[in-house]
Amino acid sequence: MLYHSTQDKSQVVSSAQAIAQGISKDGGLFVPESFPQLTLDELRSMLTKTYGQRAKMIIGKYLTDFTDEEIADCVDNAYTVEKFGDINPAPLANVTYNGDELNLLELWHGPTCAFKDMALQILPHFLTKSLQKTGGGKDAVILVATSGDTGKAALEGFRDVPHTKIIVFYPVNGVSAMQKHQMNTQGGENVYVCAINGNFDDAQTAVKQIFTDPETGAILDRNGMMFSSANSINWGRLLPQIVYYVSAYCDMVNSGKVAFGEKINITVPTGNFGNILAGYYAYEMGLPVNKFICASNSNNVLTDFINTGIYDKNRSFYTTVSPSMDILVSSNLERLLYVMSGRNDVETKGYMDALKTKGVYEVSAEIKEKIASMFYGGYADEDATEKTIHDLFEQEHYLCDTHTAVAVAVCDEYVRKTGDKTPVVIASTASPYKFSKAVLTALDKGELPESEFDMVEKLNELTGAPVPAPLASLRGKTARFSDVTDKEDMQGVVLRALGIAE
Ligand SMILES: *Cc1c(COP(=O)(O)O)cnc(C)c1O
Repeated sequence: MLYHSTQDKSQVVSSAQAIAQGISKDGGLFVPESFPQLTLDELRSMLTKTYGQRAKMIIGKYLTDFTDEEIADCVDNAYTVEKFGDINPAPLANVTYNGDELNLLELWHGPTCAFKDMALQILPHFLTKSLQKTGGGKDAVILVATSGDTGKAALEGFRDVPHTKIIVFYPVNGVSAMQKHQMNTQGGENVYVCAINGNFDDAQTAVKQIFTDPETGAILDRNGMMFSSANSINWGRLLPQIVYYVSAYCDMVNSGKVAFGEKINITVPTGNFGNILAGYYAYEMGLPVNKFICASNSNNVLTDFINTGIYDKNRSFYTTVSPSMDILVSSNLERLLYVMSGRNDVETKGYMDALKTKGVYEVSAEIKEKIASMFYGGYADEDATEKTIHDLFEQEHYLCDTHTAVAVAVCDEYVRKTGDKTPVVIASTASPYKFSKAVLTALDKGELPESEFDMVEKLNELTGAPVPAPLASLRGKTARFSDVTDKEDMQGVVLRALGIAE
């Protein structure tokens, strides 16, 4: 299996190179040259397997330059009972909401309590092995732009991993109090965290620029280092996410929610379009899926795109209670356009250039139609998000976080609009305790306690939902990091943090 750049097909690399490099030199994203197929017989054989065994089968189809032993080593060290609390790191919770059955795929039982752990607990293992295969002995510098959850998950995944350093930038006013505290208290000798005056898109744009800047690359090279990425532009992030959609399907069959071979719908609360794209890749491999429901918050650029074929980022940016979805430039959409255009790199590059220069592009009628046939786009504003948290708790005594609530609200709207009763899996992407203030406000209009951890306590008393140990243990911990920088200075911050400013 080889990988191409979405913007220049002549860039061809192995999976180890794709993972080590993170992004192609031309600025495009690496994509597999074809979708390996998962036959119905193979899928049937997975029904009786564990999550780890399912993961090995799927990952093995893509990382063909890794040995079976190497893949087993990555999987077995990532999804341990110690880290995820169970042999199945991604369990389904079945609830009835407004009379319809929903299957919430809980992806937040890992060390940082968001779905990002599903990929970021295994990426360091992929990357270490990829560097051994391709890196020429260089250390990897992981640059991360985060809307809150990726940063902490990447810090935790890479802390004290030999031959890696990790630098995380987050928008100073764009993450929850718990997310900020999680990042600023991070331990480890190879980590650095810095806030930026700007939003997530500013951080992501600057990080991409630093990555592809030849001069900075040369300075790193002279110091025995190279950049890599832990954002979902890295193929090593997307690949592990394909696994849980396949695994959820198996669990749906095993619990009698769907007959083997019958289709499901998949709803995903979406920001950078990584999580939902992984689901789409599972579908291209052969997973029986009827429709993908793409759920946005008030930053509904994707809703408009799916409905009109026009992607227009020239609009107001809202800071919402679901901060990990406060994004106007959804990087991974580029990978979908590449597939939908029949793997046309020139066409894909044209759209991305227009986005860069004008902030807007319109896809061909053909792509628009193809996307509309598989994707439904909807959004939930702040009121709808709050109401969903409240109603779901009232009806089922099930507590969900703000991002998951966006997905539940949009899924509910979809079912009401279309009457489509296909069994649905909804990605539940974070623990409600990462967003205690917003969740508490949704449940109880009374006065809020002042401190973050008093809110956690109150939410726990009110609902009885257990507080995840990794969050509870942060109470009273002092911050190690407090730097704030302007986005223009991020490059300098990176070189200084690495101790190689020239
Ligand atoms: C990152 C994140 C999302 C959005 O996922 P994308 O892959 O960026 O679309 C949704 N919910 C939570 C809690 C997240 O951390």
